[in-house]
Amino acid sequence: MHGTETHPTAALREADRLMTICNACRYCEGLCAVFPAMELRRDFAAGDLDYLANLCHGCGACYYDCQYSPPHEFAVNVPVAMAELRAEAYRRYAWPGIFATLFDNNATKVAVATSFAVAAFLAGFMALVDPQVLLAGHTGPGAFYAIMPHNAMVALFGAVFVFAIAAMALELRAFWRNIGGTAGGAVTGGPLWQAMIDAGRLRYLEGGGGGCMNADERPTDNRRVYHHFTFYGFLLCLASTSLATLFHYLLAWQAPYGWWNPVVVLGTLGGIGLVIGPAGLLAARRRRDQAITEQSQSAMGRSYGCCF
Ligand code: SF4
Ligand code: SF4
Repeated sequence: MHGTETHPTAALREADRLMTICNACRYCEGLCAVFPAMELRRDFAAGDLDYLANLCHGCGACYYDCQYSPPHEFAVNVPVAMAELRAEAYRRYAWPGIFATLFDNNATKVAVATSFAVAAFLAGFMALVDPQVLLAGHTGPGAFYAIMPHNAMVALFGAVFVFAIAAMALELRAFWRNIGGTAGGAVTGGPLWQAMIDAGRLRYLEGGGGGCMNADERPTDNRRVYHHFTFYGFLLCLASTSLATLFHYLLAWQAPYGWWNPVVVLGTLGGIGLVIGPAGLLAARRRRDQAITEQSQSAMGRSYGCCF
């Protein structure tokens, strides 16, 4: 598909327009994965543009390198166009579809709803057990579950975990189909391994070498570093929870564990990462040039410590 009139949304039409200009120019081909992938195509179907938008990490390097960025009449702004298309794609692929509205610019509603849900959750368990239980001290094996019994915790969070995995799998399937993937066209081991390494080190937040651009037009590696704190902090916490589950069910070891138990060490390191990472990303967001910041998702991004 080609031609700006053929796409159903403004975000797709703008991405198509920019990729057509960039494909003629190709000055930025060494900056990230977007441009080499773009060069493999002559026309851009909606699935191609969704794919390219998700390759973009919003480092901003191509905006500052571009001779056609504003005030040029071509107004080429790839990071913003790709961020707008990603935001639109998150809604399009959301499963179940009713959740799509959560991606709208409603950070306050989501934050308030989340706070009430957590408060109601704790209050419910306190009412079921004993309202004094939250204020009392608890020690010894099983003390960890004085407020919420272990089985209830596993049932609740296990259900949420299974739902999240199922939702992501269905969204991935829809995305895979839309970018032209087939059931038999599974990704082979080599490219998959390379993609995991690139994602694990956030290779394309390097912006071609210097890092992400800031309002002072000087690239730094801050966003990459803080993304790493967040991502690996989350992974460490997941490892801690998974290990504790194995200890509980396979070895009948009940929490709380000692300070040097791997469950506690992993969870503590992960928790530190999850404090430093989002805080650093919020700070990095303040230094980011507004010209390469996608505005409609700003408030939502802030509520999750996102730096786009
Ligand atoms: S962003 Fe600008 S300089 Fe880079 S490839 Fe596109 S048109 Fe060329
Ligand atoms: S903003 Fe960075 S990651 Fe996105 S297309 Fe431009 S150079 Fe690539």
